[in-house]
Amino acid sequence: MTKEKAKNNVRALALLSGGLDSMLAAKLILNQDIEVIGISFESPFFNAERARKAAKQLNIPLITWDITDDLIDVLKSPKHGFGRYFNPCIDCHALMVRKAMELLPSLQGDFIITGEVLYQRPKSQKIGGLMAVAKDSGAHDIILRPLSAQLLPQTKPEIEGLVDRNRLCDIQGRSRERQFALAHTLGINEFPMPAGGCLLTDISVTGRMRKIFQYWKDYIGRPFLQIAKAGRHFWVKDSFIVVSRNEQEGYDLGNLMSVWDYKVELTNVPGPTTIVRAKQRPDDDLLELAALLTARYSKARSNDAVEVMAENYLYKERKVFTVNPSMLEEKIRFMQAEQL
Ligand code: SF4
Repeated sequence: MTKEKAKNNVRALALLSGGLDSMLAAKLILNQDIEVIGISFESPFFNAERARKAAKQLNIPLITWDITDDLIDVLKSPKHGFGRYFNPCIDCHALMVRKAMELLPSLQGDFIITGEVLYQRPKSQKIGGLMAVAKDSGAHDIILRPLSAQLLPQTKPEIEGLVDRNRLCDIQGRSRERQFALAHTLGINEFPMPAGGCLLTDISVTGRMRKIFQYWKDYIGRPFLQIAKAGRHFWVKDSFIVVSRNEQEGYDLGNLMSVWDYKVELTNVPGPTTIVRAKQRPDDDLLELAALLTARYSKARSNDAVEVMAENYLYKERKVFTVNPSMLEEKIRFMQAEQL
């Protein structure tokens, strides 16, 4: 990057979540005649759907990148810890910026922009959080936050004159009023409301994730996380049972099973698909609990006797249980099962 570089050759890579802040950040830079390429990341917890719509509205190209494997490493031991839920936001942002940095040379980009706003979030967007992202990602002074830039130290693209700092903003805090006003000024009329974009900030997913990362740390991959998101979860110590909530989920769970899992279904009538995941071969108590849950969430829930089969292909085992769904609560108490 040089001072002499013609303005119309300057190119920024924008982390685009598709939320309003990331759109405004990109638009502020576009308005300085700088080319912007969007990048959005995917994992079982967030996707690029909103970013696709945003890129279309901004009329910029978008690159999407699945970062599940890197994110799992972050979730195993986030340097800056978790937020209120299972959200390691500082480390996650640093990961995303690091991935953007990896792309920068091949895209001949000059700097990276994000929609971060100083003090908008209690931990990750304090000055220390923003500085940690810049340092841990390796981006240092080539990460620019256009919405809060005037409140932050000057970055390299500002110092070198690629970006006019005077045309950036000094927004801070949790209020969205200035962003809404700016959106109006910049002609951004369609944008999603904040929140809801990341399942790591969802309370029920958080409970499951804490268990999974406590007991199954060495086994986690994308399919494991897909299972963690699906169905109703019941945990007995380090084993868990997942009961599908609809036909599609049952089908998906069937595809996500490992060879060690037991599949549990009613023998004669349609009903949920249930899987049992345990580190050792599950005992009859655990399988019977799975059978009771499967029966309870089926249309046969009022019957006195429901036939349920548990099977495992690896062990070549099939067990049939005849259960009374009304006994479920007693079994849950006996097994000290926890619903998550
Ligand atoms: S909200 Fe989710 S996607 Fe966003 S930084 Fe935090 S953990 Fe990452």
